Amino acid sequence: MGLYNWRGIFQTKATDLDPKDSWNLEFDDTLEPDSPNPGWAQYIKSTSARWFRCSQCQRSFPSNHVIVLFHMRLANGQGTVKVRRFKQNCKICKAAPMESPSVDDDNIGILLENLVEKIRVKCYHEPPKTGGRQFVNIPVQNPHEPSHCEGCIAGICIKKAPGFQSWRFCFPYHCNKLRNRL
Ligand SMILES: [Zn+2]
Ligand SMILES: [Zn+2]
Repeated sequence: MGLYNWRGIFQTKATDLDPKDSWNLEFDDTLEPDSPNPGWAQYIKSTSARWFRCSQCQRSFPSNHVIVLFHMRLANGQGTVKVRRFKQNCKICKAAPMESPSVDDDNIGILLENLVEKIRVKCYHEPPKTGGRQFVNIPVQNPHEPSHCEGCIAGICIKKAPGFQSWRFCFPYHCNKLRNRL
């Protein structure tokens, strides 16, 4: 469920774009929300993860609050999409490392379909369509844990995650930055 899947699915979705241009997708964990480089556009969307796997205890846990940040640019016929999948870590292990999500192909497809629509608007200046497909929820037993979620820590998870109903989880993890965005 790594880069290979994301790239392959992106290529099938990107065939609708101008065939004169070629598009590539890469992971980049250094992307920061709200600060794309000049000439780059941004798209943030949530999805679900079938699992995050703790590399300390090997436990895996699912989540319906997984933030994915895209920065994209089209220059001289070459399109580039950089992707940061916000990580989460195990709540049982002490100082557990942050782990990348494993997202089902169906949900990668929905996410990248929405991304291609955003590319049409931001990079090809086509008029926006309304809507966009929502990701498929997966069964999750435990509540979302903001202190174990990079997206929450960055202040972009709760707001962007549809269906998340309570603000009580966000305080004090959300900073002024989030308030300023609302
Ligand atoms: Zn663990
Ligand atoms: Zn979160």
